[in-house]
Amino acid sequence: MKKIILLLCMLSFLRADEGMYPLSEIHKLNLKAKGFKINAKDIYNPNGISLVDASVNVGGCSASFVSDEGLIITNHHCVFGTVQQVSTVQNDYVTNGFIARTREQEIPAKGLTARIIDSYRDVSKEILAGISDTTDPVERTKIIEKNSKSIVAEAEKKQPGMTASVAEMFAGKTYILFIHKTLKDIRLVYVPPRSVGEFGGENDNWVWPRHTGDFSFIRAYVGPDGNTAEYSASNKPFRPKKHFIVNPNGVDENDLVFILGYPGRTFRHQTSYYLEYERDIRLPFTQKRNAWMIAQMEAAGKNDPEVALALSARIKSLANVEKNYRGKLKGFDHLPIIQNKQKEEEELTAFINAGEARKKKYGDVLTGIKSVYEEVRSDAQRANVLTNIIGSSTLLTIGNTLMKLAEERQKPDAERQSAYMEKNLVALKQNLLSSLRSYNRTIDMLFLYDILRNASDLPASQSITAVNSIKNIRQFVDSVFAAPRLTDTAFVEKAFTMTIVQLKQTNDPIIEFARALSPEIELQNTVNRKRTGELNRLSAKLVDIKQEWKKTDFIPDANSTLRMTFGTIRGYIPSDATYFSPISTLKGVMEKSSNEPEYNTPKKIRELYAKKDFGRYKHKKLNDVPVAILYDMDTTGGNSGSPVLNAKGELIGVNFDRTFEATINDYAWNESYSRSIAVDIRYVLWNVEKVGEAGFLLNEMGIR
Ligand code: ASP
Repeated sequence: MKKIILLLCMLSFLRADEGMYPLSEIHKLNLKAKGFKINAKDIYNPNGISLVDASVNVGGCSASFVSDEGLIITNHHCVFGTVQQVSTVQNDYVTNGFIARTREQEIPAKGLTARIIDSYRDVSKEILAGISDTTDPVERTKIIEKNSKSIVAEAEKKQPGMTASVAEMFAGKTYILFIHKTLKDIRLVYVPPRSVGEFGGENDNWVWPRHTGDFSFIRAYVGPDGNTAEYSASNKPFRPKKHFIVNPNGVDENDLVFILGYPGRTFRHQTSYYLEYERDIRLPFTQKRNAWMIAQMEAAGKNDPEVALALSARIKSLANVEKNYRGKLKGFDHLPIIQNKQKEEEELTAFINAGEARKKKYGDVLTGIKSVYEEVRSDAQRANVLTNIIGSSTLLTIGNTLMKLAEERQKPDAERQSAYMEKNLVALKQNLLSSLRSYNRTIDMLFLYDILRNASDLPASQSITAVNSIKNIRQFVDSVFAAPRLTDTAFVEKAFTMTIVQLKQTNDPIIEFARALSPEIELQNTVNRKRTGELNRLSAKLVDIKQEWKKTDFIPDANSTLRMTFGTIRGYIPSDATYFSPISTLKGVMEKSSNEPEYNTPKKIRELYAKKDFGRYKHKKLNDVPVAILYDMDTTGGNSGSPVLNAKGELIGVNFDRTFEATINDYAWNESYSRSIAVDIRYVLWNVEKVGEAGFLLNEMGIR
């Protein structure tokens, strides 16, 4: 066995690779040598049709077209919030799942959008126009923001119906303009019950072996003319240029797999100073705060199903981050990630100092970054409160948004903050109104009170005036929640168009408080702009000198743009004397099943398993239905919902998680601990066919 494991490790080591490759880099890879049965043009072809055209970004997650009638597969957890919004205690789709057996039964997923890439181009020169090495840091950030906005506006004017955005690939250095088609009428088609889609709940989250059926189907619609349109009964299913072929035979251990998806953020090019800030300040602050908030919300919903349902999506997303940060903190504790960085920085410093010209040009880079992080640490407590205070309470979020909107409306559209530009107002209003669906008075009061108390305890040098001028925090919070108007949908809709004067006349205490807080948040933003501007200048130089030193090109950190990564179906050794194999099966679902809500497997699944009714989805060697697969690809948050593809580019799984040990790979990828998890397509199809009896979806995907 030992020998086999060693051999497998060696085999896979040959293939495993760090890398979230942007579209521009794919053609540089020798795909044939890595075992691909397709070439780079099949994956990305700017002048033709390729797999990229079948990849979608759905509300921050990744997703895939799987039929020519706009059918999309993504994760259950990616649509969870939407499912919660359309559920009631009587019609509880979160608990029971939902299947639309006709197109008419599909439920509009308000607020969800699907984005497809149309094209991209390098706009670094235009973005950095007007900036020199001596530009004031605040000015630098402002110029970049302004240039970016005008490039976006011009692109959207040139291509009506498309949305444009600029992505920073290397800070201060490389910028890419992406043009997207954004589909706005998305509907729920098939959502498994929570006991399948979130099997194992938080216990199993970020854990292998895993048995979660984390998948859902949705459908994208467009207007009768084929153009993007908001929901209307007369809309038609969208016809994508390309959809993925779903291969019901899946893959096996050691097979090559790859992913096309939208990884959110990684920090591998950051310095040790940033990593120390993460380890010492940001991660522990957020982890503790989330843990406390989750405990309060769980207690509030314990004996009240309606409250539990209303808070479920918020608990889920806070818990996801909380456990991820615990994993990262453990990683920092156990692995020499910061030490390795420091060593690299020492060597780089020696390289810089070895040449006079280099020293002159790059001598200030690392010391400069260090002093920015010293500044960041000096007011981190206050900054943490100011970053979190608005979001701590739904009422304060709404009050603050209304006030900001009234302020921003006075400016010409192009000068407003992006969220308040005319094109984004429908989504902004939608967000406000849907946040009310998870509003809970007890929780909102508690969270507001807690953060105000924290704020009032800040050291004098970091105090927040708007909070200090509240005489009695308890009484203030009571007055805010005595008869709040911002919980009334009709009032919020009306207030959405109010001017500053009209808002003032409402004499609403939370709007007043948001107004008092605003200049302090603004001031902090200016301080942040200065720091970002300085880091922007220094980071660009850091990349230059590192490239000169290592004589190689770098892959930019993840930034929510489309990337490809590849690897192998492969187990791992999480701890001494333990080896995890990479395919879990229905047997494991049965082993974990119990009456606990997280493990309460539907009766139908238990019955099918008892009959060994696996249909065509049985893995021959395992003699069972594969449920989840594990691989050494390079993924992060945002890759949730990504298609996992075989060497031919056929869909064989849907990525949804990483292992606990792999959460640290946002800072440093390593083939020994970086493992990601997908739901196996065989489990998806088995559920659809046997459990949901929704064979019509298999027909639509061309499977039967
Ligand atoms: N489950 C993860 C997420 O929440 C996916 C990942 O980070 O690997 O985004």
